[in-house]
Amino acid sequence: MRTGRTATWLASALLLATSFAGAQTRRISLSAYRATEQRWHAPGATTAQIGPDGRMLFRLTSINGLGTAEVMPERQDGGFDDAACAQLSRVLGDRRSGTHAPMDRRLLEVIYSIARHFEAGQVRVVSGYRPESHGSNHSLGRAADIVVPGVPDEEVAAYARSLGFVGVGVYPRSGFVHVDVRTRSFFWVDRSAPGRTTRRRSRRRHGGLQEVFGTQAQQADARARAAGISPLGGTANTAAPTSPTEDDESDDEAAEGSTPGGG
Ligand SMILES: [Zn+2]
Repeated sequence: MRTGRTATWLASALLLATSFAGAQTRRISLSAYRATEQRWHAPGATTAQIGPDGRMLFRLTSINGLGTAEVMPERQDGGFDDAACAQLSRVLGDRRSGTHAPMDRRLLEVIYSIARHFEAGQVRVVSGYRPESHGSNHSLGRAADIVVPGVPDEEVAAYARSLGFVGVGVYPRSGFVHVDVRTRSFFWVDRSAPGRTTRRRSRRRHGGLQEVFGTQAQQADARARAAGISPLGGTANTAAPTSPTEDDESDDEAAEGSTPGGG
């Protein structure tokens, strides 16, 4: 059964998977997962550093051992040079393959915007670049699963939904918010269990993934369009973004294609 598998990233987060076997693994992991997920959300000791000009130090921390990036934006509302983008992209790298890729500049701006809005001393990255999530925004460097310590996921999502040209998914059982950049906003809630390996389409069919705030999505895009915002920012390696891909409305969790306890 695919559902018996434990998502690789989950196993990694807990460092538990190789210690137990079978159904026991899943039960223990889920209980431990809850505790871990609550630690992600605990208000950090790190307080926001905001200068007199309103610029806030952007601190992005990986929960997967990929380090922390600390970069100062060029303006109060963002702006990152190539060196800053490279630092941030490393923290958003793929733990499984040990690789990273230049992340979309607008995705980085969106995450900073969220941090700035909540005056968050740091944002935790649960997952970013995932080359094996074929066809997903994660594989394209346009998506991240994040936690803002001290801020409920629903509040993070509510703000993110206002930005326009974004995908925002809330995962109440997994305990993070997915954000991506795309040409037409789509918002959803996915109540699947953490690391569940149900295939995307069947998950949609069975109602794990539920679209929310459709009208708000259109309104946010209209505002963003009027403000001249470009949906995609490209990367340090691409002067212009590649042509828009399909609007993939599901998150594509790390679960897909994962192996039990794989590393
Ligand atoms: Zn995601």
